[in-house]
Amino acid sequence: MRMTGGCQCGAVRFAASVVADSAHICHCRMCQKAVGNYFAALVGAPLRDFVWTRGQPSSFRSSEHVERGFCAACGTPLVYRADGSAHINVTIGSLDHPDRLMPTSQDSIEGRMPWFAELTAVPDLGRTEDIDSPERIAAIKATNRQHPDHDTDQWPPENRP
Ligand SMILES: [Zn+2]
Ligand SMILES: [Zn+2]
Repeated sequence: MRMTGGCQCGAVRFAASVVADSAHICHCRMCQKAVGNYFAALVGAPLRDFVWTRGQPSSFRSSEHVERGFCAACGTPLVYRADGSAHINVTIGSLDHPDRLMPTSQDSIEGRMPWFAELTAVPDLGRTEDIDSPERIAAIKATNRQHPDHDTDQWPPENRP
């Protein structure tokens, strides 16, 4: 499945043929730190088809065997690569259409949050428009600096406030 993605600021973009059934969640402590979240959601892509289409990530070797790439300008975690592997893993949240994938497995469950199974039962406060005023939503949209969920010829746009 050919997919595009990139960081929040748009300085780094990529295209990859992701292997949809390799989508997974990793609960290990290193992934938690690397993505600043309770777990990392990743999907594999063959290295031979993977291309950086704008910019290049910075990287951190989280161990002798693994390199993690992220945008140096905005900090978005983008990729995980084990040395010698023919695949690279991309963070599902950085894809333009993360909704097209669903995890098929989870691993390193020793790091899994004890309440993970109850996650969908936490109180639901509704949609953004139910919580924020129309004025506040409009003000945020008018100054939104997040790259859109598709490739762009020019970024940032010339007319950005
Ligand atoms: Zn960025
Ligand atoms: Zn992990």
